[in-house]
Amino acid sequence: LFVTFEGGDGAGKSSILKMVGEQLKAEGYSVIETREPGGIQIAESIRQVILDKTHTSMDGRTEALLYAAARRQHLVEKVIPALSEGTIVLCDRFVDSSLAYQGHARGLGMDDVFKINQFAIENRMPDVTLFFDIPPEKGLERIAKNDEREKNRLDLEALDFHKKVYEAYLLLRQRYPDRIHSIDADQNIESVYQAARQSLQPYLIN
Ligand code: C5P
Repeated sequence: LFVTFEGGDGAGKSSILKMVGEQLKAEGYSVIETREPGGIQIAESIRQVILDKTHTSMDGRTEALLYAAARRQHLVEKVIPALSEGTIVLCDRFVDSSLAYQGHARGLGMDDVFKINQFAIENRMPDVTLFFDIPPEKGLERIAKNDEREKNRLDLEALDFHKKVYEAYLLLRQRYPDRIHSIDADQNIESVYQAARQSLQPYLIN
């Protein structure tokens, strides 16, 4: 079972991923927790290139291709081998992040970004995607409370940008209603966790 966790900044997806992972392991499932861009050495190196603040001139398409390259390597080196052993893979971000951030918010076009990702993933879409739904203003507010350095980074990306990311996730949810499940992330973490855990239940019974 390939599960991806998606949402804008401050939605809490990474914390919930850990909680779900711990719980599923305690229930006896074989589970790996991983993240994008990264999760393995080559992809972590690509992540450094993408997130390096000194690379101020990085072209948008270059960025999108690097994300797709990191995704490809992570998929073939880590995700697919785990899935073929029957391990549940919980992945923090996947193709929807590229469609939302590079495709929509950065304006490259969701369809074009999907095409390069199709080349990278060869149809290996997630079985289920949890979209942590929180209004972008509130997500950013949460980050501001938790982490001053993170807040400064995100201030550089204007609220408008995060609104576009959010808009894109809503579009994606409409486009893939069977795959993408919305989790109301605008509530306390325990409730968000419960909602996430419950929405996975139908996929675990077989
Ligand atoms: O997963 P996490 O929230 O740590 O992602 C870090 C940052 O990377 C995000 O805030 C976002 O700005 C950026 N990102 C991006 N495009 C992606 C994935 C992440 O711009 N496809």
